[in-house]
Amino acid sequence: MGKTGGKGLSLARRLYTSRTLGLVLGLLCVGAAMYPLDPPVWVWVLMLFNGLLWPHLAFQWARRARVPYHAEHRNLLIDAFLGGFWVAAMHFNPLPSATTVSMMAMNNVAIGGLRFLLVGAAAQLLGVGVGLVVFAPAFVPATTPSQLYACLPLLMLYPLALGWICFRQAYTLGRHKRELLALSRTDSLTGLLNHGAWKDQLEIQFQRCKREQKGAAIALIDIDHFKAINDTYGHVAGDIVLRQLSKMLKQNLRAGDVAGRYGGDEFCVILPELPLFNAAQSMEALRERFSALGYEQSPALKVSLSIGLAVLDASHGDATLWLNDADLALYEAKSTGRNRVICCSAGKPRREVLGSV
Ligand code: GH3
Ligand code: MG
Repeated sequence: MGKTGGKGLSLARRLYTSRTLGLVLGLLCVGAAMYPLDPPVWVWVLMLFNGLLWPHLAFQWARRARVPYHAEHRNLLIDAFLGGFWVAAMHFNPLPSATTVSMMAMNNVAIGGLRFLLVGAAAQLLGVGVGLVVFAPAFVPATTPSQLYACLPLLMLYPLALGWICFRQAYTLGRHKRELLALSRTDSLTGLLNHGAWKDQLEIQFQRCKREQKGAAIALIDIDHFKAINDTYGHVAGDIVLRQLSKMLKQNLRAGDVAGRYGGDEFCVILPELPLFNAAQSMEALRERFSALGYEQSPALKVSLSIGLAVLDASHGDATLWLNDADLALYEAKSTGRNRVICCSAGKPRREVLGSV
């Protein structure tokens, strides 16, 4: 189903409910105004058709149309035209006429904004024009009490129904917006934060640590020889390794730690309020646990991690400089033999006393 098709169908469904209710209540309002005018039978037939059959016909028409969205717009114009027609047929009886015009205006503005309000008003005017020709009405200046009561259900129930429909729609849109936002921040393979979202968190944590004078560390974690794993065991096995690492990160980090996938086989973690020694310990434990993992489908597969750590210090004027230090440490871990944790403090990468291989 095309984009317009889906959008049009949901519009048609929404309008089906409101049109069915609005027109049946409108029938009561218009019928009460028409009754004293003693109109010919065909007018009663047209009124009954408009009030009882048209909503169902309009829905089926839109549903079966090639582009339901366009069909529904045409149906709304027919609604507006008939509304104008009935205003003239009621000899402009003030309350039923004002009720008909204002309910339709509310409907049109809710569905299509100012543009549709204006187009609907033009269709209503056309309806009034045709009504003038057909009925040559004289102005009926007074609304009787029974006509007033006949307008009340429409006046009271229709805005309630339309308000409810608009609320439901706004609620659904809000939910979709939140879901899309979450998706746009998530890495689809691992479920961790993606590059952009993690960098946003890094900036937030950096500012917070500076403001509150608190310490924090960041770690860049890269899988060793990952390309060779892909080449030897296939990309599916490579994906399993990536997911295993993200699972391990989720399970082993503290609630306040922020893990993300930096890109490819590189992951990143913010460890707030953790001194260098503890951060190094935590990463060392991760490195050991990950290299001890076995893979059912590929028993010979062994994987190791290189990790670069950097603690926040006074020399870091911005978050990028902090991240550069972690990158430097990771580079050092790679170039000195991989499968190790290297910490960068005071701008100098060095191996922590915790050991490694
Ligand atoms: P090093 O030890 O220096 O880190 O070498 P490496 O092979 O791990 O690093 P390199 O940057 O050469 O290769 C990373 C590979 O990761 C290349 C790319 O095809 C692969 N890769 C990136 N994203 C994905 C992914 O989502 N799934 C899989 N299976 N592979 C990926
Ligand atoms: Mg790698």
